[in-house]
Amino acid sequence: MSTATVSAQGLLPEVVSFLSKPLHKAFINGEWVEAGNGETFDVVDPGSGDKIATVTSLQKCDVDKAVDAAVAAFEGSGWAKMPVNERSAMLHRIADAIEDRKAIFSQIESLDCGKIYSQAEEDVQNFIDTFRYFADLAQTVNYRNVIAVKHHEAWVARHPWGACGFIIPWNFPFLLAGWGLGPALAAGNTCVLKPAEDTPLSALYLCHMIQELDLLPAGVLNVVTGYGETAGAAVANNPKFRRMSFTGSPEVGRLVAEACGRNLVPIKCELGGKGAAVVFDDVDISETAQKLVNAITFHTGQVCCDATRWLIHRNIYDKFVSECVERMKLVQIGYQMDPGSQMGPVVNTKQRERVLGYLEKGVADGAELVLEGGAKKVAGRNGYYVKPALLAGSLSNVAAREEIFGPVAFLAPFASEEEGIRLANDTDYGLGNSVWSRDLARCARVAEAFESGNGWINAHNVVVHGVPYAGVGKSGMGGGVVSPETLNDYLRPISVVRPL
Ligand code: NAD
Repeated sequence: MSTATVSAQGLLPEVVSFLSKPLHKAFINGEWVEAGNGETFDVVDPGSGDKIATVTSLQKCDVDKAVDAAVAAFEGSGWAKMPVNERSAMLHRIADAIEDRKAIFSQIESLDCGKIYSQAEEDVQNFIDTFRYFADLAQTVNYRNVIAVKHHEAWVARHPWGACGFIIPWNFPFLLAGWGLGPALAAGNTCVLKPAEDTPLSALYLCHMIQELDLLPAGVLNVVTGYGETAGAAVANNPKFRRMSFTGSPEVGRLVAEACGRNLVPIKCELGGKGAAVVFDDVDISETAQKLVNAITFHTGQVCCDATRWLIHRNIYDKFVSECVERMKLVQIGYQMDPGSQMGPVVNTKQRERVLGYLEKGVADGAELVLEGGAKKVAGRNGYYVKPALLAGSLSNVAAREEIFGPVAFLAPFASEEEGIRLANDTDYGLGNSVWSRDLARCARVAEAFESGNGWINAHNVVVHGVPYAGVGKSGMGGGVVSPETLNDYLRPISVVRPL
């Protein structure tokens, strides 16, 4: 099948057919499975407020069967023992098949999470790139390292761990599924993926494709749908996993990590952020203002590593802020699949209330509302739209300290390099900060001084396959994603020693 052309008017026939299923079931052991108790939940298009799917809501006993299937597939399907080049070829075949259906996946993703269509396309491409990156990398790993030690023959062998669990959020559903599944599968593990209840559809479509084209042995990939407190908690608490990966809020991350701690299941957590952009007075003001406006309005600010605290050198503060205000007013807010839209809705009513609530709380805590923001009506659509907003004031303000997860930036001036670094680091989070200046030596100094997993220069939200992406503090623990180290995380080392 070749990539279908998206008609300007509507959805592709494949997408219509997928969405017309009366019930979307979970994918366990290569079969479509309903919750034993028949419970379901609805999935809504955030841009229109319309229901687009009904999905089975798995309970603990259903999820446990998925974990058992993953364990059995690890032991018996041949996946874990398959020669690495054969396994890599299978992952490349999955990447090829997604590429052939890129428009279908992109429409599903755009509809499901309210993402601007072109950004959904980028996410689908990112999944493809992730699978290819880890499929290729897996073929370069040294699976047996001889160690030269006196009076002993010794080596370290690396094997896959077993069944791995993945709990992911709603902001980048398909991209994050790729970041988790790519390295785990490439290393020979089997997987149980729990998508967020708001956005399970692209993962389910992936399973349809894999089943239709017979791309993986049964049980190697299982997708369990349901609410966090039931299906998610069942994944978190299952002791049969050999590794767990959680991406989401620090609050839920703590719960999942506690459960894994009790079972001694190793876990990595990719959590929230409160990133800073430190802008020096030698920048091109218009260009930098536009880039930061682009960053905070990208996916309606629902980006973990976003630049949410804009620290501007006091020499350019007033001019920079007025440029940002003018540019933010120009952002076209609209339905995510309309070609003219630059910023779509937030994911649900809860998220809209959260964003609007932080504007109120910020002002009550003393912040100045530089650009008002607020709810936004989009003609003919009953979705969850908000306008971008700018707050300014003391960085001890609640809106400067807590993660809002919307198109809201907090502005503050700084006077020296030392102060810029200090303010950027004055947060519990530590995911991604950026420095903006023509002086690249200063940029390098400042970027390295950030207490975060990532320091970016003259750009924000930069994630590149091959470069580790991780958080520190409240932003994450246990390793990170998309780099060679990530593949190693999914390989269990065993030291073999023979005294001579
Ligand atoms: P969330 O923590 O509410 O939910 C994430 C996942 O956890 C969902 O699948 C949910 O169903 C599940 N869950 C909820 N309660 C659970 C429980 N008790 N036990 C087990 N699982 C449970 O997060 P969200 O609102 O979906 O996503 C937004 C958050 O994710 C933000 O904090 C954002 O910064 C973070 N995030 C981080 C990264 C990163 O790479 N660091 C990437 C994307 C998003």
